[in-house]
Amino acid sequence: MAEQKEKPRKVGAMGMVPYEMALGPTWTKFFEGFKEKKILGTKCKKCGRVLVPARPFCPRCFEPMEEWVEVAQEGTIVTWSYVNYTYFGVTPDMIPVIGAIIKLDGVDCGTGMSTQIGGLDIKDFELVTKKVKVGARVKAVWRRKRQGNFRDIDYWKIIE
Ligand SMILES: [Zn+2]
Repeated sequence: MAEQKEKPRKVGAMGMVPYEMALGPTWTKFFEGFKEKKILGTKCKKCGRVLVPARPFCPRCFEPMEEWVEVAQEGTIVTWSYVNYTYFGVTPDMIPVIGAIIKLDGVDCGTGMSTQIGGLDIKDFELVTKKVKVGARVKAVWRRKRQGNFRDIDYWKIIE
């Protein structure tokens, strides 16, 4: 008797999980700075490194990082990616988008801010590949109304 092959039975579903996250004192102060268009980092009293986003302790020395410093709003692209497809939570009207990690001037290596590059026609991929490069200089463009979160920086603009 021939074995009858059946397609495996599947059920499709998509879900979203709303959540809230306690920021704690370090990230609260970091984001309060955003309201005043300031990017704050913490400085390690032992090794002298400045880290952004701010950290409560130095991951190298394990020393508390209690000294706050305002850092530059310009920096350099460390890495970037061009996202032109939809995925969970990203709808066609939200793409393309250019995600980047940038190292701000005066901030030590090993840390970077996760950002979005804007201020150019990002649908023009040829233009993007000419302007957006590892090592390209960028500066923060703030939203007019800021609420103390990562979206307060609307995007990072390529400095020509
Ligand atoms: Zn340190």
